[in-house]
Amino acid sequence: MSEVLVLAHEDVKRLLPMDECIELMAEALGDLARGRSWQPLRFVVRPPEEQSLMGLMPAHRSSPEPAYGLKTVCIFPGNPARGLDAHQGGVMLFDGETGELRALIDASAVTSIRTAGVSAVATRALARPDSKVLAILGSGVQARAHLEAMARVLSFDQARVWSRTSEHAQAFAAEAEASFPVEAVDSAEAAVREADVVVTVTSAREPIVDRGWLAPGTHVNAVGSSIPTARELDSATIAAAALFVDRRESTVNESGEYLRAVEEEGIGPDHIRAELGEVLVGSAAGRDSDEELTVFVSLGLAVEDLAAAEYLYRRARSEGVGAVVPF
Ligand code: NDP
Repeated sequence: MSEVLVLAHEDVKRLLPMDECIELMAEALGDLARGRSWQPLRFVVRPPEEQSLMGLMPAHRSSPEPAYGLKTVCIFPGNPARGLDAHQGGVMLFDGETGELRALIDASAVTSIRTAGVSAVATRALARPDSKVLAILGSGVQARAHLEAMARVLSFDQARVWSRTSEHAQAFAAEAEASFPVEAVDSAEAAVREADVVVTVTSAREPIVDRGWLAPGTHVNAVGSSIPTARELDSATIAAAALFVDRRESTVNESGEYLRAVEEEGIGPDHIRAELGEVLVGSAAGRDSDEELTVFVSLGLAVEDLAAAEYLYRRARSEGVGAVVPF
């Protein structure tokens, strides 16, 4: 009889510290660029008349040991009002030799940590190393994870946070654990102007960032939109930027940031300068000057969840963490 390891939210948070996750995500994106992992486009179940959706995100990795992963993530926008994470679900890890299910892991914890970890990798690779001012638009789960992640890769002097509901920005700033001051501001513009690094982590459908607010040399991580019908940046920003993405195929099919700029600014696939993994393995260049505006569009990839699941499985087994269930 085989066994399945079950890892709960708190297990994931304990076993996947941000510093380690950042290196893990750099490796996973490098592996994708080298062709060592593979994933189809995700499949989204969106029943008519429903506000919620279910996303199915499968991936395979051939080395160091073969493995399949599948994240099933349900997004319920009303959850934060219930005190729950909007992202719910599980990451399943399968043995790549036999197909046996090895682990079932809390997806909300994996998603929050790995997404911020990927943005940290992008920021380390693309932002100016002397960046001092961080702007975060949004104050939810991803905003918290990103504040932690950004501080791991650059030495910021201050952060400004804006959120649609100003009390949420104020509560975020008051509770923030950072080695620099975190200030709540009244508008997205006040957060973004003269920031060196901007992180957008909202569920906005229409732009909350205007091209005219971004100073030369800014790096933007656009994280909140993962679907064709939502975006956080205006098309002028996408058109003006050196555009980096997690994956080209996903971007041209799934990214509202990209697809709306195609409609409004006439950009095409050749506007995408590189996948982040290509920059990491040295097959594509990153930022080309201190004045360049760089944008990283993060859609979230199944290979990131698979890499996190493999790491968590190995570590939990060696440390005896989690529940082992006969299966
Ligand atoms: P939360 O529900 O925890 O937070 C949502 C945030 O978005 C809140 O700060 C909320 O502001 C803000 N917001 C909601 N609607 C609007 C709007 N119309 N205009 C401006 N702001 C708005 O979500 P998460 O932090 O978990 O996720 C944030 C976004 O990131 C989501 O869209 C999610 O799908 C996406 N995401 C992307 C991933 C990736 O890999 N790229 C992975 C995980 C999530 P307030 O509370 O102040 O009203």
